[in-house]
Amino acid sequence: MTRTNQESESAMDAFDPAFLPVSGFDLPRFAGIPTFMRLPHAPSPEGIEVGIVGVPWDGGTTNRPGARHGPRALRDASSMMRMFNQATAAAPFHTVRCADLGDVGPNPASLEDTIARIEKAYAGFVAAGVTPLTAGGDHLTSLPVLRAVAKGGPVGMIHFDSHTDLNDDYFGGFKLTHGTPFRRAVEENLLDPRRIVQVGIRGTTYDGEDREFAVASGVRIVSIEELMDRGHEAVMAEARSIVGNRPVYVSFDIDGIDPSQAPGTGTPEIGGFSTFTAQKMVRALDGLDIVGADLVEVSPPFDVGGITAFVGASILFELLCVTANAVARRKGRPVLFNERIAAVAWKVNP
Ligand code: MN
Ligand code: MN
Repeated sequence: MTRTNQESESAMDAFDPAFLPVSGFDLPRFAGIPTFMRLPHAPSPEGIEVGIVGVPWDGGTTNRPGARHGPRALRDASSMMRMFNQATAAAPFHTVRCADLGDVGPNPASLEDTIARIEKAYAGFVAAGVTPLTAGGDHLTSLPVLRAVAKGGPVGMIHFDSHTDLNDDYFGGFKLTHGTPFRRAVEENLLDPRRIVQVGIRGTTYDGEDREFAVASGVRIVSIEELMDRGHEAVMAEARSIVGNRPVYVSFDIDGIDPSQAPGTGTPEIGGFSTFTAQKMVRALDGLDIVGADLVEVSPPFDVGGITAFVGASILFELLCVTANAVARRKGRPVLFNERIAAVAWKVNP
């Protein structure tokens, strides 16, 4: 029932039904042990192509904490996801082998040791051929992940956030917080600053030092004003042309979304983009050579009725769809879609 327009025996051979999520027709979506998207929990990364990984950690947080509780809330909310994307007909679970790789255990007493643990775990995932999709955790999580993902040289990044996270230091010279990960990543040559696009930046700020760095190093900042004025289609077209067809990481801070739709986060800023615009922007990444992605800064203690965890899980699914397609293309396999959904959806919206 899931087919490609270029039918391929090898693609169908690679498919293993043991790595599909539990169907809501077999066990209702409110039942069962909550793994990400109801996928099998794989104790080993061997043979997994896209691994969803939890990083329950908020040691980099400078204000309201709680992102350490994000992965559990995201796993629970992600049981609402069904198998296919109705807007794009994407079939990520049929396109590549996906699994929940569990959590990377942090050291609650040490920021440095936690970063080392994350880096080591992700180096193992990457060595096993896994493209990681991370559920944070605060935004400092992205730094050790990038150290593993960008081992072969600097990658580009499309970054959705209300903050640049390009600050140099905090509170008298401290270099590792959730406001500094991408400054460090540029310094460490993990990110090519001329291939970084930041979308949704806004709010109050300490000073303009992070923006000075962005201008001096070639980072493209798209403020929320520019996003709203030009529209997300034009902005994402520009973002795609900036990162080009070379490897790119995608980092999505839930506080990019307006706090009326995602209140459960540590440093909210009003005047953000909507969940719908977020979905459209992530879908616009299809075709890019995505080598990893994350969804960070969901803080369940500040959430209301689980709304932010649900939004986060839904964005994780959109990220999974475009990441799975990128993995299939890298492997020379066709991108699969659900032909039944496509036949109807493309008639409705050709
Ligand atoms: Mn932020
Ligand atoms: Mn951030």
